[in-house]
This record gives sequence, structure tokens and C-alpha cells, in this order.
Amino acid sequence: MIPLDEARQIVFAGCSRGHPRAVPLADALGLVTSVDIHADEAVPPFDNTAMDGFAVRAADTAGASDDTPVRLTIAGTLAAGAAPDVVVGAGQAVRIMTGAPMPPGADAVVMVERTSVEDGGTESQDVLVQIEVAPGTHVRRVGDDLAAGQQVFPADTTLTPAHLGVLASVGVRRVPVYPRPRVGVISTGDELVDGPGPLAPGQIRDSNRRMLLALVARADAEPVDLGRIADDEDAISEALTAGAASCDAIISSGGVSMGDFDFVKVVLDRLGDMTWMQVAIRPAKPLAFGTIGGTPVFGLPGNPVSSLVSFELFARPGLRKMMGHPGLDRLRLRAVADDGLARRHDGKTHLARVVAAFDADGVVHVRTTGSQGSHQLAATAAANALAVLPDGDGVAVGGTVEIMVLGDLGTLT
Ligand code: AMP
Ligand code: MG
Repeated sequence: MIPLDEARQIVFAGCSRGHPRAVPLADALGLVTSVDIHADEAVPPFDNTAMDGFAVRAADTAGASDDTPVRLTIAGTLAAGAAPDVVVGAGQAVRIMTGAPMPPGADAVVMVERTSVEDGGTESQDVLVQIEVAPGTHVRRVGDDLAAGQQVFPADTTLTPAHLGVLASVGVRRVPVYPRPRVGVISTGDELVDGPGPLAPGQIRDSNRRMLLALVARADAEPVDLGRIADDEDAISEALTAGAASCDAIISSGGVSMGDFDFVKVVLDRLGDMTWMQVAIRPAKPLAFGTIGGTPVFGLPGNPVSSLVSFELFARPGLRKMMGHPGLDRLRLRAVADDGLARRHDGKTHLARVVAAFDADGVVHVRTTGSQGSHQLAATAAANALAVLPDGDGVAVGGTVEIMVLGDLGTLT
């Protein structure tokens, strides 16, 4: 057996960062920028009002209060999107809506709640201002979010929805990033079937492919369904060759253990530059990793829970490396074990499936999801974290355990 870290280094050595290219913002979510991004335009692009109200000359409001309002003449109305084509002279105000440009002459805005118009309607010629405002009140200055020419964010930024909003705000339409790898997913096994209809004796339904395609999508890579392949050396050979030519990475499940029909490792060994590993972990001990013409191939074990854990430990960080992510791993936290997480000495690191959540004490606690068999995917589906149990006796109730967080952390109820 080889240690987990050593196995991961072998995998990472075969996963290189893609060549940067500019992609439309619509395709950029979750990708990593390859260059510093600068703003060509200021945000906001012009001085505008943060409030609905009246644009005024601040000096005209001197001494205004509820009891002694100041009367100003309404010179016009500016909606958001209008050009500022009215000038505010002394003793004048312009009715103005949030986001509308400040009209020339005005230097402050009085919010509508601190004004009254005599007939209560839009026909009124005068407005009574009930508060004194300083210059700049409720005015959003040009460039006070981003100045033209300023760096918006540096290279190696992972683009979130807010980042995409910022890029849109400065008129960027395509952004240079490390591209999203196309990841082909293959299931192997004569026993597997898809689709409706009863199972024939010995058959099971293919669960891994659906799961792995979804895991690839969650990792911000592009899943490509390469189907189900029989336990046949030629068929697997053909599928891996074609997959390696059309995709940036391949993830297969099954066929990497010690069985008579475990051909994935055989084929990968023949076609590529493969390392077949017995990793000192449980579940997911066997792993075949190699490259075919430079395309990384992750041969994950077939048991569904093993496939999932192997994806998390090897494929996901490998794909993240290809996508230029500065950090490859899931968030790691220390948590309190509300259930005992017992295990036996076997020279392996165990990855126990747990539910992690913040408790009333503000600390993350974990409970086991129950059945930990590597074929018991239903029990694992409840997990949002993997507890990392080093070789030994495990963790007693109330003990501290390190977890890898796979999903959102909820609150214990
Ligand atoms: P293997 O790694 O091919 O020896 O498979 C190990 C176990 O996982 C066997 O019980 C297989 O039937 C099961 N298995 C393999 N592939 C899948 C799959 N795609 N979906 C569900 N179970 C699978
Ligand atoms: Mg098999």
C-alpha cells in the first residue's frame, strides 16, 4: 500500500493546467482568471443619486427643519436612464429617482421622505424641504466603486457570481481564464444496466455514472457522458482511446481491483503511462491513474461509495489543478464527534461519512451517517463531510476529529 499523499502526488503530476483562453462571461462561472483584470470604465460611470428625492444645492437647505421648511421651485424630473438635461439654479430643486444622474448645479439629494409637495402630487411647482443637507449627501460619486484603469481583481481569482457582476459592470464581455476541462465519464461492468424495465438475474443499475457526471459538474468541469462499457478488453481499449482523444480527462469506474475481469487497469497499462495503486485508505483502496497521449485517466473503483471517495481525494483535486485553482482541496475543519467513530488498526486512513453541522455552541459537530459499507450509497448520500480517521482506534464520543467538508454546513436541529 502507498500513503494517500504519495498517491495524490502521482495523480497531480499527470494533471497540468490548461492553456488560458478568453471565454464569454456566461461560461466563466467557477473558472480561474489567468491575468490581472483592469477596468476600462469607472463604476458608477457618473455621479448619481442613491435615493428617490430632490436634487438640490446644499446651501439652499441651510436652516431647514420640520418646523421651518425651505421652499424650492421644482425645475424638472430625472428618472434613472435620463440624461441630466436640467440645470438646478439657486432656489430650485429637481425631482430625482435612484440611479438618475445628478443634474448640473445640484450637489446633494434630499430623500423624498424629508420633503412635501403642497398638492401632494407630481403637478406641484414647489417642494418644501424639511432637512438641511451637506454637499454630497446621498450622491454616489463617479468611480467610487471602481475607477477607470484600476485593477478589478488579480490573476488566479476564482470567478463567483459577484465577480461576473463586477466584470459586466465594467463592460467586460470575455474574460481570460483557464478553460473548463471536458471530462468523459465511463462505467465499466457486465452487470450494469440503464433505463427502465426489470433487472435480469445478476444485473444491477448503473449508479456511478450519474453520480460522477454530477460530481464533475459540481467541480465546475464539463461532464461528458461516455456511456457504459462491458468487461471486455477491446471495448474498454476503444472507449479509453476515443475518450482520451475527445476529452481533456477521463473518469472511469470499476475494473481496477484484483478480479479476473478487471480490464481497466490492464488496458490503461497497455495504452498509457499508468500507475496502479493500492492506496492506504478505506474505502477506495484501488486506483489506476495514468495518461493516454497526455490526457489524464482516473480509474476509480466500482463500489459506489469508493467511487465517490476516490473522486473527492484524487479526481476533484486533479481537475482543479487542470483548472488553475490555487487551492485543490475541500475545506478542512476540526469538529466534535457526537457519535463515536470507532475503527480498527489496519495501516489505512479511514474516510467516514458524516453529517456535519453547527450546534448551538457555534462549533461544528458530526454524526455518522450509519452504515459505512462501500456499496451502501444510500447511507452515504446523507453525508456532507468525510471524517478523516488516521490509523488507530478512531474517535470517542466528544472527541475531536478532522473533517473534509463536501457540501453546505447546516445547523443541527
Ligand atoms: P469493480 O470495481 O468493477 O470490481 O466493482 C466493484 C463493485 O462495484 C461490484 O459490486 C460492482 O457491481 C459495483 N459497481 C461497479 N460499477 C458500478 C456502477 N457503475 N454502479 C453501481 N455499482 C457498480
Ligand atoms: Mg467490475
